[in-house]
Amino acid sequence: MRLVFLGPPGAGKGTQASRLGEEWGIPQISTGDVLRQAVADQTPQGVEAKACMDAGQLVPDEVVIGIVRDKLASPECAKGFILDGFPRTTGQAASLGDILTGFSAPLDRAVAFQVSEKSLIERLSGRRTCSGCQAMFHVVFAAPKADGVCDRCGAALIQRDDDQEAVIRKRLEVYQQSTQPLLDYYANLGLLVNVPAETSADQVYSDLKAALAR
Ligand code: AMP
Repeated sequence: MRLVFLGPPGAGKGTQASRLGEEWGIPQISTGDVLRQAVADQTPQGVEAKACMDAGQLVPDEVVIGIVRDKLASPECAKGFILDGFPRTTGQAASLGDILTGFSAPLDRAVAFQVSEKSLIERLSGRRTCSGCQAMFHVVFAAPKADGVCDRCGAALIQRDDDQEAVIRKRLEVYQQSTQPLLDYYANLGLLVNVPAETSADQVYSDLKAALAR
């Protein structure tokens, strides 16, 4: 299946995409993860993206569209994929449509995860990310066994620069302005599926699978 996961930062898109991708054997493509890796590797793309990311702003369309085009052309995407965090603007959505038309592989669904702003701020400000394997934890809702250490790989847990409260508010504002219009965009194409995402990760996962089976 070819899927797009939409929703504000902190809605749990990444967690759900990783679980579904593993179960269905299709890759999760997170533009945020690719960009963070580029920043860590100090590639030209990473250097260009860093200032936007630190400010909670979107990275220019041409950078992220290039990343997605390369990923989608790879053989591992032949059976399907889950795009997590892309598209985020109507320009990106139109480009994605063009890329997929070129591959004669149209999108099957766009899934929108719905969470209140209060919960998003709570989730994001307590979030900790593994500096090694990128696994996610939360100081209250999903605490690691040992403080500050990843349960999976033992590397240090860090708070992403863009998970500081002032940047979170900016990211939510950018979401409302630039990405929310995509809900109508995909609804008009008859592809939108809504999944309430205020509950536990397990509940959201079973609601997600039920919604995709309809
Ligand atoms: P995420 O991990 O998806 O929350 O993304 C972290 C940051 O990466 C965002 O705040 C943006 O600065 C950048 N980013 C990720 N995906 C995109 C995208 N599709 N378009 C523009 N910027 C993006």
